[in-house]
This record gives sequence, structure tokens and C-alpha cells, in this order.
Amino acid sequence: NVLDRYVVIGHPVAHSKSPQIHTAFAEQTRQNLTYERLQAPLDGFVPTVRAFIEQGGKGMSVTVPFKLEARALADTLTERARAAGAVNALRIVDGRILGDNTDGAGLVRDIEHGAGVALRGKRVLMLGAGGAARGAILPLLQAGAASLTIANRTAAKATELAAAFAAHGTVLARDFDALDGGFDVVINATSASMDDQLPPIGPAVFVPGSLAYDMMYGSRPTVFLRFAAGHGIATRDGLGMLVEQAAEAFQWWRAVRPDTAPVYAALRAQT
Ligand code: NDP
Repeated sequence: NVLDRYVVIGHPVAHSKSPQIHTAFAEQTRQNLTYERLQAPLDGFVPTVRAFIEQGGKGMSVTVPFKLEARALADTLTERARAAGAVNALRIVDGRILGDNTDGAGLVRDIEHGAGVALRGKRVLMLGAGGAARGAILPLLQAGAASLTIANRTAAKATELAAAFAAHGTVLARDFDALDGGFDVVINATSASMDDQLPPIGPAVFVPGSLAYDMMYGSRPTVFLRFAAGHGIATRDGLGMLVEQAAEAFQWWRAVRPDTAPVYAALRAQT
């Protein structure tokens, strides 16, 4: 009776919280599986995945820098993975590689259930147009956001994303200095937080009752979240998104939905 085997593949992967999250999900739902870290060489993603499959591996979480290679490798993609242009979860079925992207769904679920903000009818502002922003657009529109405005340092990338998703809803590209009116939900999907920088926004992006969401998480609030809090705006960091994207992947693999609340609380207590 061999345990089903799962890994998180990345480079580096030593600091990934995914093993802790998925092991907790497995205990909670009484699933017989192992979940470990697997560091692939930077130029060795595909052979590492192939070897894992030959050894009977069932699925993997994919993290930096392999999400694009994972999309290219997958035999079949879910709609949201195709829209995201990147894959963060692989599932092996009869030797075939299925690719999904659960980051955007994780974000939506954390906004709605973690922060308690229903997205239906809301005006959403997305700061950034990188991989994380792209993956979030379709799930945000499908959750019923009334409009999605994208602002990015390199304006052409925001324009490109707005055009790519125009068929799915109201998606607008705006320059930072032309962000008129307040937004109900402002999502920081830039990596500016890593450098302790605030994207070039003013307090006018918020309205009373707005939610400021930073995809980044850590031991202290980001500059963006401190800026929002300083203007009386509710804040949430990306730790919940991390746990929720894992839950989405776990459900995809195991057909059982884990309870994220205790796992989120345990991780929060460690940060
Ligand atoms: P990318 O490198 O793909 O994109 C980075 C984005 O940030 C680009 O839009 C870039 O603009 C912008 N940017 C970088 N520096 C600045 C700055 N100083 N001022 C303004 N804009 C800036 O990164 P990802 O999309 O993969 O990741 C973005 C963030 O999301 C990271 O902090 C990451 O940790 C987080 N994340 C969190 C997850 C979670 O589960 N919580 C999951 C995935 C990501 P430009 O185009 O002009 O270069």
C-alpha cells in the first residue's frame, strides 16, 4: 500500500510553506499521501518532472521560476491556466500531465471568505501586470467584479492585459496618474513591496469601506498595507491567498475540500 506522492517543485524551494500546508490538509482529511520539497536544477525542470512521474508521482505544486515551463509541458490545461498563461499545479493521470492555475481562485476565495468582501458588483483596481496579476484577472471577473482597472509601471503591459481579457468583462488599463475615482478593492500585485516601495498611488484610489489587498506576505505589513491603514482602510496580506491556492490544488488532486481556517491560523501564528 504505497502512499501517493506529491511535491512542490521550484528553485529555490527550501523556504516553501507548501509542505506544511498540504501535510496539514492531508491529516485533516485523512488522505494517505506524502508531500515534500523537490528542487529542480534551473535548467532541469522537464527531466525532473519526468523522473517524478516515472517513480509514480501523482501531482506537484509549481513555484518560481518554473510556472511558464510547467504550462508548456502540460498535455492539457484548464481554462484558468490557459488564461493565466502559467501553471502552478500539475496532476498526473494515466501518465498524462494536466495543468491548472489556482492562484487567482485562491485570491478570490481569500478576498471573499478571508476578508469577507463579496466581489460581485465591485470596482477592482489591480496594481501590476506581471504573472500574478494576469492569473487573477479571469477569476476576479468570474466572481462578478463590475470592472477591473489595471495600472502598471510599464503601461504597455497593462494595455496588453486589458485587451487580452476584454471579452470576459470590463477591463481597463489606466496610467497611475489617471486613476480617477475610488475603488472598492485595491490589489497590489506588484513586487514593489519586496523592495519596500509603494506603487505610485494616492489615497484617492480608496473610498470608505475599501479593502487593500497585498499579494505579498511576511512578518510585518508591506508599505502598501501601511499606507492604506494610515488612511483608515481595511487591509489583508497574501498569506490567505497562499493557503487558498493550495486548498484549490488539494481539492483538484484529491476530490476533497480541506478547511483552510486552522491551517491559516497556524501559519499566521508563525509569522
Ligand atoms: P512579476 O515579476 O511577474 O511582476 C512584477 C510586477 O511588479 C510587474 O507588474 C512590475 O512592473 C511591478 N513592479 C516591480 N517593481 C515595482 C516598483 N518598484 N514599482 C511599481 N511596480 C513595480 O511578479 P509576480 O507577478 O510573479 O509576483 C508579484 C507579487 O505577487 C510578488 O510580491 C509575489 O510574491 C506575489 N505573489 C503572491 C502569491 C501568494 O500566494 N500570496 C502568489 C504569486 C505571487 P513592470 O511590468 O513595469 O516591471
